[in-house]
Amino acid sequence: MARTVILGAGFGGLTVATDLLRLLGENHDIVLIDRRDHFLAGLRKLWAIVGLGALEEGRRPRKSLTQRGVRFLQREVRAIDPSARRVETDVETLEGDHLVIALGADLRPDLVSGLAEHAHNLYDADAIPDLAAALAAFEGGTIAIVIAGAPYKCPPAPYECAMLLDDHLRQRGLRDRTEIAVTTLQPMLLPNAGREASDWLGEQLASRGIGFQVGRKVERVEEDRVVFADTELEADLIIGVPPHRPPRVVTESGLTGGRDWIGVDPATLEIGHEGVFAIGDVTQIGLANGLPLPKAGLFAELEGQRVAAAIAAEQQGQGPPPAFDGRGYCFLEMGKATAALVEGDFFADPEPRVSVREASADHAAGKRRFEAERLERWFGR
Ligand SMILES: Cc1cc2nc3c(=O)[nH]c(=O)nc-3n(C[C@H](O)[C@H](O)[C@H](O)COP(=O)(O)OP(=O)(O)OC[C@H]3O[C@@H](n4cnc5c(N)ncnc54)[C@H](O)[C@@H]3O)c2cc1C
Repeated sequence: MARTVILGAGFGGLTVATDLLRLLGENHDIVLIDRRDHFLAGLRKLWAIVGLGALEEGRRPRKSLTQRGVRFLQREVRAIDPSARRVETDVETLEGDHLVIALGADLRPDLVSGLAEHAHNLYDADAIPDLAAALAAFEGGTIAIVIAGAPYKCPPAPYECAMLLDDHLRQRGLRDRTEIAVTTLQPMLLPNAGREASDWLGEQLASRGIGFQVGRKVERVEEDRVVFADTELEADLIIGVPPHRPPRVVTESGLTGGRDWIGVDPATLEIGHEGVFAIGDVTQIGLANGLPLPKAGLFAELEGQRVAAAIAAEQQGQGPPPAFDGRGYCFLEMGKATAALVEGDFFADPEPRVSVREASADHAAGKRRFEAERLERWFGR
């Protein structure tokens, strides 16, 4: 029986596994590997900080996939040999007819002095309970949200966090005693969505009294201040988005080929070895304007759909499916139980064509459904 080995059971890997199961059923051996025993979507973290939903409600055990026909193995991936389609884990060596690398991005707060010690890590689920507790104890002052590296996943998330905090602190009667500021090292708020979308987001932040500074590269973080090359920001609560890097096994296995991330054919997600694909945050796909495709769960999923369809078509002796086209969307939390809908054709030339549909309660419900539909599709509930 042909086998596909999928490394990483996040948005991308789960999509490949469950799509292959739907398309090829029992006739295909689907092996899915991840070091962690459960899945949790990133967007839950934002809700958990301000009490809009518990992390637990979004957690699903990966071993439940085995009952559904996907062989889930909780393992550490130690080495990847793409030419042999061979993977070494802490337990065994596995080979596949197809290999899909969906290992995401590692968070590296250690790359900025003081970030791990003095900032709450917005992107680490394990750090969210402490951040929620610090916010609950907060009685006013300055909150700094610091984007310390790029590219980083879900580019709007730090700004969504700021707008959710704004709403939350208003409800607690603390907003007039609180400054909220977001800093980014990038030259505009959402560079890979383009100037118009960045300007729109800037207006949304300003209308809520949220400060923002672009082009601010963090040099170090101290107990109550963030130090940039040419200025400083004093803050009572510091929330950080750490630099992202490919997982070490990816670089050590030579898969980045001297680049920052794994390069892929944008249409097929192939990496230049027969039967080997890479999808999601671990890849870098260049856009016409020279910037990378945003790292987002939706793109990992759409890429995963294309890869599963290509593997299934090959197994069934059919022609290749339509190419991955770089079109995607995201619901952007705006506070007050509303969200905006940002949609884009990211492969457009000379730059992504992105449109924004204004905040509504319907779009906020759409974001809730976004998570619920995926949990249902991948885990059955
Ligand atoms: C706060 C926040 C909000 C977000 N909101 C949204 C949103 O609204 N919409 C959206 O589309 N995206 C959102 N995202 C982004 C989204 O979560 C990521 O882009 C998405 O998870 C990427 O999917 P992936 O499959 O590439 O990687 P991941 O989902 O990160 O999966 C990679 C997996 O590989 C495993 N792994 C890594 N190395 C190893 C190893 N050596 N051995 C074994 N296993 C390993 C990891 O444990 C992980 O489970 C958000 C992210 C954050 C942090």
